[in-house]
Amino acid sequence: MPVPTPASAALFERARQVTPGGVNSPVRAFNAVGGTPRFITRASGPYLYDVDGQEYVDLICSWGPMILGHAHPEVVAAVSGAVARGTSYGTPTPAEVDLATALVERAPVEQVRLVSSGTEATMSAIRLARGFTGRDLVVKFAGCYHGHVDSLLASAGSGLATFAVPGTPGVPADFTAHTLVLPYNDRDAVAAAFAEHGDRIACLITEAAPGNMGMVAPEPGFNRFLSETCAAHGALFVSDEVMTGFRTHAHGRWGLDGELEGWRPDLLTFGKVMGGGFPAAAFGGRADVMAALAPTGSVYQAGTLSGNPVAATAGLTTLRLATDEVYAHLHRAGEAIRAGVGEALSAAGVPHLVQTDGTMFSVFFTEADGVDAVRDFAGASAQRTDRFAAFFHSMLEQGVHLPPSAFEVWFLSAAHDDAAVDRVLTALPAAARAAA
Ligand code: PLP
Repeated sequence: MPVPTPASAALFERARQVTPGGVNSPVRAFNAVGGTPRFITRASGPYLYDVDGQEYVDLICSWGPMILGHAHPEVVAAVSGAVARGTSYGTPTPAEVDLATALVERAPVEQVRLVSSGTEATMSAIRLARGFTGRDLVVKFAGCYHGHVDSLLASAGSGLATFAVPGTPGVPADFTAHTLVLPYNDRDAVAAAFAEHGDRIACLITEAAPGNMGMVAPEPGFNRFLSETCAAHGALFVSDEVMTGFRTHAHGRWGLDGELEGWRPDLLTFGKVMGGGFPAAAFGGRADVMAALAPTGSVYQAGTLSGNPVAATAGLTTLRLATDEVYAHLHRAGEAIRAGVGEALSAAGVPHLVQTDGTMFSVFFTEADGVDAVRDFAGASAQRTDRFAAFFHSMLEQGVHLPPSAFEVWFLSAAHDDAAVDRVLTALPAAARAAA
């Protein structure tokens, strides 16, 4: 029996009058699963509260940033203090130095530049890589999302190592003519692309571990292979840690195996967790590469609100509170939910794969017989999205808000305590039956 949500429905109607599709980012519209998005007025710890007075266990966590849960008292106090001191000065501030220092201490970067969104971070990293190398071509992987940067909203051309076509109207073909799109985890495709175009490739950009086609782990040694291939051809290796950074691991996804395998990106991009729920993001890496940026170098990049003191305070406080215990908790809570999902879907006879990388995971409603892992976008796409939609709505009606797409990671926080996890586990069997 669907839960009545008249206030959300009325707001959605109003929203559609004034905003395309009623939302400010497409997936929030529930297009992939159907139905009316819930309009949220308040959030606390692991819970969201909508305009109809419903409470949901939140497995979106703002698509990653809220690693401590919502309205963490120490973050709220620090941010309130920052707001009271003035919200933006347009001059250098202590908070941005502290946040940059925190990033340099945690991640394999010598210098960073702060920006306001993940899209800005990847866009700027690509420009810097092109400016530094004096080359134009960029390599990316199908299924990796790097924000809505024109040249990165590209689909594979026909065949390997051919140039990409725009993935959306509004991007001239000329803009993606410098982008090569390859299948993820495919060393042969990477080797072939570099053999043919290596001396024209400015950089290869990849999600450190793709979380935007569902969770797809890099095969052991794949990131090292990418790093070595780039180095051999004088191209930069750009690891996009906007989603994984300080979520997968305290040192970013790189912290899982970068040191172990012996590789290090030339540039990295960050966002989400490092902004603590505010618009803060960054790109950074080798000091010699970063020196090419204005004002030390000639590659231009700027931003009115870059390093904003309120956002920097939120990010810094969040990173300080993201202790080893937080990551251990994410592992434990994730393990309980993964086990519960597997059990429920198996009991209902629903084919599925649960995939994990560090503390991140997602569930593929895959039909593929005999497939034991999704390793690329073709595999990720072979899902029964109709089954996910039924599963999603059953969970929602039972008070658990999953990301409204089969291609998303389920995000947890330090605030997802036993009570919240139990509510998820309790909802799973009926949702699995709905998906059958
Ligand atoms: N890179 C990755 C890996 C992302 O997951 C995202 C957003 O989901 C972005 C870049 C873009 O970040 P933003 O939405 O802050 O522009």
